[in-house]
Amino acid sequence: MARAAVRGRLTWQIGNVADAVDETARVRTLVLDVPDWTGHRAGQHLDVRLTAEDGYRAERSYSIATAPGEPVAITVERLDDGEVSPYLTEELRGGDALELRGPVGGYFVWDAADGGPLLLVAGGSGIVPLRAMLRHRERSGSDVAVRLLYSSRSLDDVIYRSELAEQGAGVEVVQTLTREQPDDWTGYARRVDAALLREVAWPAEQEPLAFVCGPTSFVETVASGLVALGYPPARVKTERFGATGGG
Ligand SMILES: Cc1cc2nc3c(=O)[nH]c(=O)nc-3n(C[C@H](O)[C@H](O)[C@H](O)COP(=O)(O)OP(=O)(O)OC[C@H]3O[C@@H](n4cnc5c(N)ncnc54)[C@H](O)[C@@H]3O)c2cc1C
Repeated sequence: MARAAVRGRLTWQIGNVADAVDETARVRTLVLDVPDWTGHRAGQHLDVRLTAEDGYRAERSYSIATAPGEPVAITVERLDDGEVSPYLTEELRGGDALELRGPVGGYFVWDAADGGPLLLVAGGSGIVPLRAMLRHRERSGSDVAVRLLYSSRSLDDVIYRSELAEQGAGVEVVQTLTREQPDDWTGYARRVDAALLREVAWPAEQEPLAFVCGPTSFVETVASGLVALGYPPARVKTERFGATGGG
């Protein structure tokens, strides 16, 4: 049984696109029907592999956007000069097949039993695994207090905008728009730095657990800012998406 589960995780398999949902002009969620899926935890990712006609292959990782027990979905931001993301966001249609393997990762994961309070900090598409954690919290009936700090370039770039606006009791959503803000904007309008973290983050004395996800430079700024506020490094979990991504 355990052997089968390990093989299932590491083996490439075919998923089918069950649905494709536009989140923003550049971001699309693909809901996947994966017959041999072994289940996943909030925060894990999967790998996607594309094979060109000449045999050239490209692999990329994508965080799983949904809670354990929900259908697998990924949310992809299109980088116009990227190899893989334009295909995933523009070419793939409902019913198309996609080669993937997963779930992957056991570190950047939150189970309801891990408790909190939780500090979630996202830049751009870094919101994806944190959304899985928010959904897991709700579905598991957890009452852990959550503060989400989410940085986007503009309101039109906010991924899961309506879902984030509808969070229930115990979840505070704090947003910053770094490049462009509507006239009636009441949130922050600057990049996340040590000063902003000091205003928003739970005090270290409350022993929060932090998850930080986004472009590499964003993650490094936030993680070091939290450690400077007294968060033990072991309670600041990070996921770096690479050099790119908004926020
Ligand atoms: C664990 C993990 C989870 C992730 N989850 C998500 C997610 O949920 N959603 C999401 O959108 N992304 C996610 N990513 C990022 C994702 O894996 C891809 O990196 C992203 O989609 C870009 O892939 P691409 O093939 O489109 O771009 P690439 O072809 O990889 O290009 C990326 C950028 O690098 C530049 N570049 C490429 N090659 C070179 C070169 N030789 N020299 C200089 N610059 C170059 C390109 O111009 C482009 O701007 C995740 C990454 C990791 C590691």
